[in-house]
Amino acid sequence: MEANSNQNAGGLALEVDGLVKSYGDYRALDGVSMAVRPGRIVGLLGPNGAGKSTLIRIVMGILGADAGQVLVNGAPWTRDALRNVGYLPEERGLYKDMKVGEQAMYFAKLHGMSKQEAVLALRGWFERLEVDGWWDKKVEDLSKGMAQKVQFICAVVHQPKVLILDEPLSGFDPVNARRIVEEIRRLAASGTAVLLSTHDMSRVEALCDEVLLLNKGKIVMAGESEALRESGWHGEYAVTYCGSDVAFARGLGASSILGDVDRPDDPSEAPTRAERTALITLRSGFKLSDTLAGVADAVDIVEVRKLRPTMQELFIQAVSTENTESNA
Ligand code: ADP
Repeated sequence: MEANSNQNAGGLALEVDGLVKSYGDYRALDGVSMAVRPGRIVGLLGPNGAGKSTLIRIVMGILGADAGQVLVNGAPWTRDALRNVGYLPEERGLYKDMKVGEQAMYFAKLHGMSKQEAVLALRGWFERLEVDGWWDKKVEDLSKGMAQKVQFICAVVHQPKVLILDEPLSGFDPVNARRIVEEIRRLAASGTAVLLSTHDMSRVEALCDEVLLLNKGKIVMAGESEALRESGWHGEYAVTYCGSDVAFARGLGASSILGDVDRPDDPSEAPTRAERTALITLRSGFKLSDTLAGVADAVDIVEVRKLRPTMQELFIQAVSTENTESNA
């Protein structure tokens, strides 16, 4: 989702340029460059040990880099700029003996909010994420999910211009994970640049505008999720139809290569009415609409789907290609 330019006015773009970081002899980041523009949600993906946390810690100024730099709107990142940043670390933790409201106020003030601003913003967030009855309760009495929500609120209460989230959905049940996804999208729509790491591939497509795939300290795939999926598509469609297989194949004629056909397991289903799904690949020079018109004369078409690879499939493909090449 591209936020409009008015909302982006005053937004911050985060860039890293040529980051290198070694732990002893091990190079955890090997020349990583990337950018997150205002209003965009960029997913940092990669297998365990790829270097995601190292990258995030360098961006947050917790770790120093051996080479390369972190830039905000083209200028080197300073400690002052951290006031405009929200950060949800992977290791979660709230001060257990503090009350929930007290804790949230502490984080809000840390980010430069006045008491009045903080109370107003926090009341709104608490209501929206349904933790409003918890203001005066002790942190130690919160369930894990509630504590996660409070921590998320602490990271975003000051409406950060750059938001860094390390595994933001871990620990949430599906319903609350969806709420958090909605809130991340809302922040991006208001112009926040969001960088998040996740290994939850099933959510990447719904959540991220762009992805960066890190493997062994290097970026091996980067781009808009939709464009990456489109470029990994090899012309396959899944066509679900009712009717005879022979008639379907005849209807295709020379237009397509017919792949697997899924038939219902239950033989008691009427052989001519049961739905089947065939994979077809159009031959060059043939149009889908003409092909479907030919097939529709022979069988009833129920559904046609373009079979683009999922982000998970692209991820596995890119990591295994890279690993094979580096082993060779
Ligand atoms: P990810 O977050 O993608 O799982 P990390 O950035 O945590 O990856 O780690 C990248 C690599 O660097 C891993 O091989 C890890 O073992 C190593 N590493 C991370 N932190 C340290 C450290 N403090 N000392 C030594 N090696 C480390």
